[in-house]
Amino acid sequence: MVDASKVKQNIAKMTNKARSSLGTGKVQPHKHCRVCFTPIKLSAEPRVCGDQACIDKNARDERNEKQMKIWMLAFLGLFAFTLVGGPVLRTLGIV
Ligand SMILES: [Zn+2]
Repeated sequence: MVDASKVKQNIAKMTNKARSSLGTGKVQPHKHCRVCFTPIKLSAEPRVCGDQACIDKNARDERNEKQMKIWMLAFLGLFAFTLVGGPVLRTLGIV
C-alpha cells in the first residue's frame, strides 16, 4: 500500500532539490565545445575545448562549411543568372 505521508515527503524532497538547483546553483554563463559539448570558457575562441581531436575536427568542419557556402553562393548565382540573366540577355538581343 502507498504511504501518503511518505509520498508527500518525497515530493517535498524533490521540489526542494529543484528549488535549490535553481536558486543556489546559478549556472555561470558558458559555452560548449561544438564537437564534444564539454562546457568551456565564454571567451574560448574557436568554440572548442582544449582537446586536440576537437580542434582538428572543428577546423575540418569549418573548412567544410566554407566550401558549402561557396557552393551555395555559386548555385544561387547560377539560379539568379538564369532567372534574371535570361530575360535581360533576350531583351538586349544577345540571345
Ligand atoms: Zn571538445
